[in-house]
Amino acid sequence: MLKSYNVVVVEDEDITRELLGKILTDNFFKVHPAPNGKKAIKLINEITPDIVILDLGLPDMDGFKIIREMRTWTQIPIIVVSANHKEQDKVTALELGADDYITEPFGAAELVARIKNAIKHSVVLKERKNDGKYVLRELTVDFINKRVLINGFDAMLTKNEYRIVSLLAQNAGKVITYEHITKNVWGTEKISDSRIRVNMANIRKKIEEDTAFPEYIITEPGIGYKMGI
Ligand code: CA
Repeated sequence: MLKSYNVVVVEDEDITRELLGKILTDNFFKVHPAPNGKKAIKLINEITPDIVILDLGLPDMDGFKIIREMRTWTQIPIIVVSANHKEQDKVTALELGADDYITEPFGAAELVARIKNAIKHSVVLKERKNDGKYVLRELTVDFINKRVLINGFDAMLTKNEYRIVSLLAQNAGKVITYEHITKNVWGTEKISDSRIRVNMANIRKKIEEDTAFPEYIITEPGIGYKMGI
């Protein structure tokens, strides 16, 4: 990495915070630890980091509150650290504007990959804000003409399929929940997760080379989908 990225690590448990700090330092990130919410907000305001790793269970403050507060003024990527059984917490964090989550216990490689991915997408999205297109390898989402191209050919998505792909592309690198997709694609109508899964299966047939190993849209089991790896 050419640039050393600044990471604020918000975690009250010393062992986990130190472990996170060590993994990140070994991977050339500049780590700024925060053992509580108050210190976290102060640090984030002071240094405007490239990314924030956030534990939701803090002694002085709800992690959700930090996400909400941050999203009033910044789109700095946030990755939430969550226990495996707390699925609803992940969904809530994503709905409030977190970008991704990592489940404990996690491996160093997965953590670093998710952080790099989130930083990369936040930079790319900033640069591409106004050109009306999202390009990922052989996939192009053309927001102006409302169509998706694969290898230069129109993928012939239906209206709803396009809406799903477009939503994921506009938020590339971010996990988008089933609930968020439902609200955006079908309005207020209550749609079952299985209906979204059927749509996704059809989308994959049209854009993925091998639907068993999708390379454009990744499934986050029980939560939703993410565009881009
Ligand atoms: Ca904690």
